[in-house]
Amino acid sequence: CPCVRVPVAAAVPVSPRSRPCPCVRVPAAPAEGALGFPAELPPLPARSALSAAEILRYSRQLVLPELGVRGQLRLARSSVLVVGCGGLGCPLAQYLAAAGVGRLGLVDHDVVETSNLQRQVLHGEARRGRPKARSAAAALRRLNSAVQYVPYRAALRPRSALRLVRQYDIVADCSDNVPTRYLVSDACVLAGKPLVSGSALRLEGQLVVYNYRGGPCYRCLFPEPPPPDTVTNCADGGVLGVVTGIIGCMQALEVLKIASGMGSSFNRHMLMFDALEGRFRNIKLRPRKADCAVCGDRPSITCLQDYEAFCGSSATDKCRSLRLLPGGDRISVQQYKELLDARAPHVLLDVRPQVEVDICRLQHALHIPLRKLEDKDEESLQRLQKRIGEEKRRTDDQTSVPVYVVCKLGNDSQKAVKILQELPAEEFGSVLAKDIKGGLMAWATKIDPTFPQY
Ligand SMILES: [Zn+2]
Repeated sequence: CPCVRVPVAAAVPVSPRSRPCPCVRVPAAPAEGALGFPAELPPLPARSALSAAEILRYSRQLVLPELGVRGQLRLARSSVLVVGCGGLGCPLAQYLAAAGVGRLGLVDHDVVETSNLQRQVLHGEARRGRPKARSAAAALRRLNSAVQYVPYRAALRPRSALRLVRQYDIVADCSDNVPTRYLVSDACVLAGKPLVSGSALRLEGQLVVYNYRGGPCYRCLFPEPPPPDTVTNCADGGVLGVVTGIIGCMQALEVLKIASGMGSSFNRHMLMFDALEGRFRNIKLRPRKADCAVCGDRPSITCLQDYEAFCGSSATDKCRSLRLLPGGDRISVQQYKELLDARAPHVLLDVRPQVEVDICRLQHALHIPLRKLEDKDEESLQRLQKRIGEEKRRTDDQTSVPVYVVCKLGNDSQKAVKILQELPAEEFGSVLAKDIKGGLMAWATKIDPTFPQY
């Protein structure tokens, strides 16, 4: 064979018209470059026929008239960028690899953790602490070694996203945060690539194909990001692993349909899945908006921006941390431990939902869920006043008994402190409320290692 394999770092971009030798069946996976991003990927070889081994391997899908040999050859020449190798990305990448796509780019900055295993089914116990992108590539290689895997151990960033997205045919958004969703969508519009986007939370999932055949982009649907303190992620809200599995599989299906030429059904529809009811619903979407800032007729966004600033939240923080209170209204878990050891008079108020209190709690805490405080629930506020009164009497009527508010991560507790600070003093007496920074998870990591983390 006259073909010479060029190491990717030194590879010269090949024009799409130049045809690599068809005898190259499995090009070597390109090595990672600086920051985990390779310089430029060579195009996948053009193929005109399947080998006998491939015919056997893919025989169950080859006999489908909708796919056939032609569709399979298209798959083999397709490259898919998977943004996020978590609950959605794992099943998605697994089915794409099994079906024989040509190249899978796997983007994830994170490492495998114990709490991932419940839904991120490509990684195993032995992979804990390893980078997810490489863990996924290794597992997928065992499934189908003929596919080219390119792991990127880095977060998708505005400075690198467009260059990366341009190198792939289809992008799958399997991320878990709002800034990345805007970044991926804008990059796909600017690069002219279809975006198969999935999300799952609690017992619900959604899927849309953006920027495809006249359909809208993410910004057409959501021109403005939601306020950061209204966004719930899987760490806060929970998710059942099989729900991410179902949505990830639906994403894989749409990617395969687009890649093989069947086309997607979701460019003008949003799929909504309700796991509790066992119901799928299709909601019709408007077409692309003429005044969309990025895909509209006169776009104001022509290059990628600072999406973390735009959304007011981080793209890589697993545990988002809000700053709603001034520093004087917050104490650290270490400071709280000192107060506790010194038996300082106070009330500890736990504002987590009951389901989380059932998992673990500090025994001396009074429990009133944030929701009850938001509703100014009279019975709950009376319980708080009663506890403050008891504590006052116990300490010979100290002038003030502070209320330290705790939750899981220190976000809801700040909202609770604000509510308590704004209670009318004539009705409830003045409450000196402070937030415990980082919540019970900080307590578990910094003070009591036997306290459960969830
Ligand atoms: Zn748009």
